[in-house]
Amino acid sequence: MTASGGGFSGDAGSGTAGSGAGVSGTAGSGDAVSGDLVSGAGVSGLLQALRFAAEKHRDHRRKGATAAPYINHPITVAEQLAALGLGSDVELLMAAILHDVVEDTGTTEAELVEAFGERVTRIVMEVTDDGNLRREERKSQTVSNIAGKSREARLLKLSDLIANIGDMIHHPPHWDDERKREYLDWGEAVVNRLRGTHHGLEARFDALVREGRAVLTE
Ligand code: ZN
Repeated sequence: MTASGGGFSGDAGSGTAGSGAGVSGTAGSGDAVSGDLVSGAGVSGLLQALRFAAEKHRDHRRKGATAAPYINHPITVAEQLAALGLGSDVELLMAAILHDVVEDTGTTEAELVEAFGERVTRIVMEVTDDGNLRREERKSQTVSNIAGKSREARLLKLSDLIANIGDMIHHPPHWDDERKREYLDWGEAVVNRLRGTHHGLEARFDALVREGRAVLTE
């Protein structure tokens, strides 16, 4: 998910970009299931996910001074998972690439199942907020629900939080310090509920939060 209502996504909801032809392919049909990253099927599924997400997010920008293309964010989330030894689960990386398309672009669950199969879709839906709730409700729901999510969803959520907090520190959105502090507090509340999921990701998260707090007290 985006920033779970943290407001990191740019023009959320404006995207109705067609998925275009060529998206639904063999991904999710079984060949790509937990394939190795070096296998052709895995690479092909990952590239399809990238193309799909890039098209869906094509009109979106990240918040923050540089207004980076939105797709950079899901790429970072996937990249972090791969860098910490989770790259052999290609479907997890695909879900990372796709993690904001339902919440932010109006992509449907059915569309994802059709294009990427049940498992990728299940992970994406697990980290997708209920759009009917207000931001504060979504955020408190994330805290209360995260421990009951699958390991894949918890890994993805961790990487998403790391990416969002990293951006908040290094490419600050136009938030006052109070709001930044609230975001760090909320991120910590979420992570405290899922500790034990992945040491490397949690250590990276903790280091970033310390950095964020140090920046805020300067
Ligand atoms: Zn996100």
